[in-house]
Amino acid sequence: MSIAVALDGPAGAGKSTIARRAAKALSYIYVDTGALYRTVGLAATEAGVSPVDSPELDDLLQTIKVELTFTEQGEQAVLLNGTDVSDRIRTPEASMTASKISAIPKVRAFLLDLQRDMAKTNDIIMDGRDIGTVVLPDAQVKIFLTASPEARAGRRFKELAEKGMDVKYEDILSDVKERDYNDTHRATAPLKAAADSVTVDTTELDFEQSVEAVLAVIKEKI
Ligand code: C5P
Repeated sequence: MSIAVALDGPAGAGKSTIARRAAKALSYIYVDTGALYRTVGLAATEAGVSPVDSPELDDLLQTIKVELTFTEQGEQAVLLNGTDVSDRIRTPEASMTASKISAIPKVRAFLLDLQRDMAKTNDIIMDGRDIGTVVLPDAQVKIFLTASPEARAGRRFKELAEKGMDVKYEDILSDVKERDYNDTHRATAPLKAAADSVTVDTTELDFEQSVEAVLAVIKEKI
């Protein structure tokens, strides 16, 4: 049987970088489910469809194809109708659209099988908001990775600034808080720690310490 590690937590807690490194250390596949919601959001933006529940969004979901592929190095790429959109889904606008569109039950249902199928045949670390609670409730390891909003905004600011994006810390902090609110208050699959998850708080940890903390939880459970 394949092994699944569910890694949930708020935006900017470092889930993706930490999970990527931990997956490499364990030779597991890393699946970033946020990329899927971002891709549906991008599809909506490009089609001029608002990220709200509507017949137009239903039509859009009937026509788009979202796929995950992996490079030989194990890096995930997400395809929208056959085109790699992995870079285009990383803007602050795409983050906000993803946060809004992910609250719509039909969007979550649309992406559910794709996520579950990944776990059927691979040892994986899957990161998201509802992996331990909804997508993979039987995952052998469930981790809730969190950090203060200020620490998370600071890290995201650094990441975007390093990519040359013209961003302000205050804007990112208010984005982080708004997304936290959206993610925890939505009716369907809200962000919350699974009852059987272990919380890892990285506010005071650097990257290497965070990776070690996550690996320690996984090794203890498996
Ligand atoms: O993790 P990331 O920031 O890329 O996720 C983008 C948005 O997608 C989040 O704000 C969240 O609202 C949504 N999301 C979700 N469920 C997941 C992964 C992401 O609702 N499993």
